[in-house]
Amino acid sequence: MKNICLLTIFFIVSICFQPLSAEKKPRNVIFLIGDGMGIAQIYAGMVANGNSLQLERCTYSGFSKTYSANNFTTDSGAGGTALACGIKTKNGMIGMSPDSVSVQSILELSEKNKLSTGIVVACAVTHATPASYIAHQVNRDMYEEIAADYLKTDIDVFIGGGRKYFEDRTDGRNLTAELKAKNYQVAYGLNEMKAVRTGKLAGLLYEDQNPGMPERGSMLPDATSTAIELLSTNKKGFFLMVEGSQIDWAGHDNNSLQVIKEMLDFDQTIGRALDFAVKDGNTLVIVTADHETGGMTILDGKFSSDTMKALFSTKNHSGVPVPVFAFGPGAVNFSGFMENTSFKGKIEKLLNLKK
Ligand code: MG
Ligand code: ZN
Repeated sequence: MKNICLLTIFFIVSICFQPLSAEKKPRNVIFLIGDGMGIAQIYAGMVANGNSLQLERCTYSGFSKTYSANNFTTDSGAGGTALACGIKTKNGMIGMSPDSVSVQSILELSEKNKLSTGIVVACAVTHATPASYIAHQVNRDMYEEIAADYLKTDIDVFIGGGRKYFEDRTDGRNLTAELKAKNYQVAYGLNEMKAVRTGKLAGLLYEDQNPGMPERGSMLPDATSTAIELLSTNKKGFFLMVEGSQIDWAGHDNNSLQVIKEMLDFDQTIGRALDFAVKDGNTLVIVTADHETGGMTILDGKFSSDTMKALFSTKNHSGVPVPVFAFGPGAVNFSGFMENTSFKGKIEKLLNLKK
């Protein structure tokens, strides 16, 4: 009898407490994309940084298959669209299916569900990767159309370069003035950006593309901290996409030293996101890439030194899967092999978003 009682108590206790820890869901998602970041780019940064990265704090890892709807090797338009909208499309397209139908992104769906939303990038905010989260255009080069698409949304924070696509336009519209009319605070420099502590923010920090490292300084990690501070006041939660945009450009240049500089800048940014997630306890951090760039490999190196024997097999992107890392509630869902189209659905479910 005593044994049966103990067994019953044990049974009740286990059903009461187990599901709580097993099914804890995030309130916020920070999705970090290292454009062109494969295993070799990560390891180059890790070796140069004395065999350590912030990224190692992530507790789950997997691989994402990057092929597009019409190509074994994706570009950043189709790659970004897969991550943002959950569909494979043709290379060069932004937020649209192969037959040119607009598809809602996870950022737009988050906004519809009253979460706060943000984009922070180390390139023009009109470039392919950020555009995939906010715009719907048949071609990634339509920068002025992509800039105008920002006005069709209610995104709370976006920070990067590309001011000229908002102000110096062929259609004569001044999108900065239109943003101000929609209650955005517009920042043209880092200090102006940092002074914004509440409300909506459009950080158009550079005329066109952001400079590379080291000229860019702490723009990317600092803009990420600003975005988190502004977005995290929403008790319903937030979705923030952050891109280390220029790991890709260094890969196209087959420049391993620049790959390391951009990788370490992105890693500092990942550290900012993880610091917040640790403190907050309700934030899922996901780190991945849209594709690998350069077909990079490392044959020799020395820890704490940026001189290494790195080889590149192409000036373009390669077709290999890219790594995925995750930390926080729901992170377990991002382990093993996955399609690049699977992120949207998983995040949608974890944030309990309604269509
Ligand atoms: Mg990009
Ligand atoms: Zn590229």
